[in-house]
Amino acid sequence: LVAFLLFLFYLHEPIGQLLHAGSRLQIGLAAIRRLSEIETLPAERTGPAGAEPDTAGRREEGLTFSDVRFRYGPDRPEVLCGVSVDIPAVGMTAFVGPSGAGKSTLFGLVERFHEPDSGRILLDGRDLADWDLASLRADIGYVEQDAPLLSGTLRDNLVYGRPDATEEEIRDAVARTRLDTLVDRLPDGLDTAVGHRGNFLSGGERQRVALARALIRRPRLLLLDEITSQLDAANEMAIRDVVTTVAKTMTVIVVAHRLSTVTQADRIVVLDNGIVRATGTHDELLANDLLYADFAATQLLTGERDD
Ligand code: ADP
Ligand code: MG
Repeated sequence: LVAFLLFLFYLHEPIGQLLHAGSRLQIGLAAIRRLSEIETLPAERTGPAGAEPDTAGRREEGLTFSDVRFRYGPDRPEVLCGVSVDIPAVGMTAFVGPSGAGKSTLFGLVERFHEPDSGRILLDGRDLADWDLASLRADIGYVEQDAPLLSGTLRDNLVYGRPDATEEEIRDAVARTRLDTLVDRLPDGLDTAVGHRGNFLSGGERQRVALARALIRRPRLLLLDEITSQLDAANEMAIRDVVTTVAKTMTVIVVAHRLSTVTQADRIVVLDNGIVRATGTHDELLANDLLYADFAATQLLTGERDD
């Protein structure tokens, strides 16, 4: 296990660099935790049907944050100061707010990288603390801004977390994320090596591989943290289409800066300094929330290139 963790360390960042950057270390550790969790998924998934949580009839309840408070340590300032928000089981919810507002922290709590200091988070009406951690994470597709890829082939990266995916499911995810032109261009198609941490691919391509990987895992809850930041307008539009399509059948939560992405959402939550300032549609917030109106105006003025 130690060798495996060291290997993942090596994959993620040269160690010296890691030690010089505390926050990157945190991100690296989060990625390692996530990848090592994913490692255990196939076995969990093939367990007896009775071992699955009894949620089938309750999915309409979605995800609820109830007065969630959180700080990263006893001497740290409070990052989430009583967040309450209901996210319906189907549809797309966008979180917007200034950098440092606590958006990524909320996602971290949903994945149970951390526990709330007080308050509760309920999925399908059940406290996250009561979920089996492996089946909870099996139900969540999480894509972050700096999607780390593994060395190995494109196919290895796509089926990571669900090695039993069929060729058709892989091709479908590849097409949906517009990776098919890339696959056609690569000398060995899906079986082309992507280089150390995927460095043969562009940032936008790595991002789409990470999204395709999440889709192949068939999650019921998709968390997308600023994933369009490295994409050009055409790619961003493609991703937006996939996301709006999958949001018709599952819970999709995005953190986004681009107005074009945010306005697609069924509802928008404005988070500021660990507090939910406002919730509503784009039009409602434009009329009622100054911070949101300001955000929208800035986005328009900068031609939506503020990511
Ligand atoms: P956002 O995603 O909205 O930009 P974050 O949730 O990343 O905000 O961060 C909220 C606050 O928590 C910031 O002040 C940030 O510095 C702090 N923070 C984030 N991650 C950590 C961490 N791993 N350890 C300590 N503080 C953190
Ligand atoms: Mg963030």
